[in-house]
Amino acid sequence: MPSDIKVKWDWEGQHFRVKVLCSLAGVATQILVNDIDTGSNILMDVGDGILRDLISLPRTHYDNIDTVLISHGHFDHVGSIFSLLAFFRMLNRKKKLCIISPPKVTELQGLVKTFHESYKDSTPFEYELMEIDSEQMVLDIIIKPFPVQHRGSLIGGDELPEIPAIGFIISKKEETIVYTGDTGYFELLKSHITGADLAIIEGTHEVEPSNYHLSVPQAKELGKLAKNHLIIHKIPKIHD
Ligand SMILES: [Zn+2]
Ligand SMILES: [Zn+2]
Repeated sequence: MPSDIKVKWDWEGQHFRVKVLCSLAGVATQILVNDIDTGSNILMDVGDGILRDLISLPRTHYDNIDTVLISHGHFDHVGSIFSLLAFFRMLNRKKKLCIISPPKVTELQGLVKTFHESYKDSTPFEYELMEIDSEQMVLDIIIKPFPVQHRGSLIGGDELPEIPAIGFIISKKEETIVYTGDTGYFELLKSHITGADLAIIEGTHEVEPSNYHLSVPQAKELGKLAKNHLIIHKIPKIHD
């Protein structure tokens, strides 16, 4: 029976529709990209609360998540991949799931490995971790990663290694969506965003940007280079 839940999309194009399920810095970012032509879905990043977000949608939207894109290993972008895999196992999913990330995201590798070691004999669907550093074709969608300016440090200090972090350009038949992931400003960002049908841009800081995050004014300026834009990843209010 068709669901009577109506999804409120944040953007609708010719071939894609987008819903930002949640995006709060240090909590969660998860964005659903629906291929209107095929019904297949891409989930961009998987932070906390993903299952609560998904069950508010008609089931077909999460049954049809065929691809997960991970921008980087911070917990607010990857922390709930274990829950997502376990949820799909519980639902007796049969379709293959492809998880795409930049190479060497140790947090992602660890979570998927833990899931695999715990449930490999009783998981009814295939899943594959695909590390990419160049353009990939997934069905008829082109997924192109680009490096961004972000670094992992919860403690601070200069000694910490750089973490692999990317943004994504997703395109199909001339329609293009750009997702910046978490990033500070760098010159090439403008060319990635220019002309996109939709740019999903992080705007973490209200006023002053940092090396590793944009500000809302910067995100707005960058957004003007695209035909449409959404600003995400704002800092949540933490109550005393
Ligand atoms: Zn983040
Ligand atoms: Zn981050």
